[in-house]
Amino acid sequence: MKEKLLHLTNRQRLILAVSFAATVFIALLVYITGGTPSVYANLMYVIIALVSASFGKRLGLIQALFGGLLIGPSVNYMLHENTFYGGISNNWMIRLFIFSVIALIIGYFSDSSRKNNHFITNLLTHDNITNLKNLEAIKREDVKDPAQRTIVVVSVKNYEETLSFFGYTFGNQIVTNFADKLKEALSKFENTEIYRYAGMEFVIRIRDSAGGASVDDVINAINELDESILLVRSIPIYIELEIGIAKHDEATPILETVRKALIALRYASDNELKSNVFDSHLECHYKSVVDVASSFSSALSNRDIQSAYQYIYSAASDQVQGAELLARWLKADDTSIYPNTFVPIIEKTELIHELTSFMTDEAIFFLKTQELENFSASINFSAKDFTDKNIHNFLRKIDASGIAPGKFQIEITERILVKVDDILRYLILLSEHGVTIAVDDFGTGYSSYQYVAEMPIDLIKIDKSIIMKIGSSNVYKSLVKSIVYFCRENQITTLAEGVETLEVANTCKEIGVNLLQGYYYHKPQMTRKVHVECVCPEESSFKR
Ligand code: C2E
Ligand code: CA
Ligand code: CA
Repeated sequence: MKEKLLHLTNRQRLILAVSFAATVFIALLVYITGGTPSVYANLMYVIIALVSASFGKRLGLIQALFGGLLIGPSVNYMLHENTFYGGISNNWMIRLFIFSVIALIIGYFSDSSRKNNHFITNLLTHDNITNLKNLEAIKREDVKDPAQRTIVVVSVKNYEETLSFFGYTFGNQIVTNFADKLKEALSKFENTEIYRYAGMEFVIRIRDSAGGASVDDVINAINELDESILLVRSIPIYIELEIGIAKHDEATPILETVRKALIALRYASDNELKSNVFDSHLECHYKSVVDVASSFSSALSNRDIQSAYQYIYSAASDQVQGAELLARWLKADDTSIYPNTFVPIIEKTELIHELTSFMTDEAIFFLKTQELENFSASINFSAKDFTDKNIHNFLRKIDASGIAPGKFQIEITERILVKVDDILRYLILLSEHGVTIAVDDFGTGYSSYQYVAEMPIDLIKIDKSIIMKIGSSNVYKSLVKSIVYFCRENQITTLAEGVETLEVANTCKEIGVNLLQGYYYHKPQMTRKVHVECVCPEESSFKR
């Protein structure tokens, strides 16, 4: 009971104090007005109802007894010359009984409603798989807890894969098993609390307390579980962890700090780091990613997205053979954002189709302005472009242009060759239509000759990172030689990218590369002479 009283809220303490004072006050009124026949004795019902409704039947009963005895025998004693059972008021026992019954009835309903509330709160604030608290709990506790905290988010890598492979029930067992290990690892630290966030992501709150565990102590304990084996139904499951950390400050709601720790975790995961601490640059990074994606469509309609062309030369004649079209995002100050910045972002979204469609229009425009006979225009395709709808749209567009399909070339990376389902079907379709197919950045990825041999590939573009080194390294020179040899045997044309010097151009010619592309010959130029006017600066020039 003493312990319970200690856990009372300030509001409850106030109710108790007021009830005590009111009881004494009512007893005095009863005494002054001549005893219990006075109407004031009935006020005691209000106090009994208040206490039993607020604290349940135990305290309600105490209040009923206290009130009943005070206005019963005590008042009688004072009024009737030291006699507890004086005259008219000896029915106090029946009144005490009625008070007690009322306290018990109200207290009973109050207790059971409190139990229900407790049950519902428990459901709301606990995760039903691990029985750990959840984020709702952290949010509620936040109000009461002003201590400085650090939030650590721990995630088990590749859990989704395990889940989709073994199924939901087994997945839940992994979660429970891991949660138990985590609880055990952190049980020695009194200032830490574990919450389940979602899937295999757990939030750990570390309170700053004198003599308590430091953030490093907690991280070290968590790391004991990293790269370990979890035995679930005798199946050994390999566990690898990623950690995001964020320091909490008083002015921010705790869920905001959890969000920051999750951003730090995401960054760790994207960059293959074991752990990462949140700082505001991370937020800027993700914000600018969102800015790029959200402003791309309007940039396209404002004509801030443009194309540049870079000529491609024949190694045999040094004559222009074609050009590659490269995307540019123009800013209000007439500088451009390069595609390595924005293409990887929009490639993650469906916006990439808008870019490819735009670049196809640009290729058509560009080819219409060229007079050379065997001139081709090359555009870069992304993995997401390989769907029935997009490939048919592309073919329809080039058919409608009236230009021979053979003048169009698409560039795909080795990654696309390996990863995209049905890629062979699409390449055959394009190839049968007359479009030529180039493998871009060859030598940086899988360099799978087998894939190249099995697909209708017309051209291999040897990556600039290799070409730039052929002047100084025999290893790279022989690598290029072997690519050229393989292509020659398979009737595939070769192109050297990133030719920046005469020396490199000559070495490529000596090895037998067919086509050359690079700053030594031609730097990318804007396809159309554009005058940028009236562009909202915030939309077109986001900062990085
Ligand atoms: P990429 O397809 O390998 O394009 C060649 C890149 O090398 C271009 O960079 C070009 O400007 C640059 N380059 C050309 N010659 C030289 C040289 O001699 N030295 C050096 N250091 N670089 C040279 P850019 O325009 O910044 O494009 C970067 C990448 O962005 C492209 O690499 C391509 O993967 C992607 N990209 C560009 N436009 C598009 C597009 O319209 N759609 C898609 N999906 N990707 C695009
Ligand atoms: Ca390319
Ligand atoms: Ca390339």
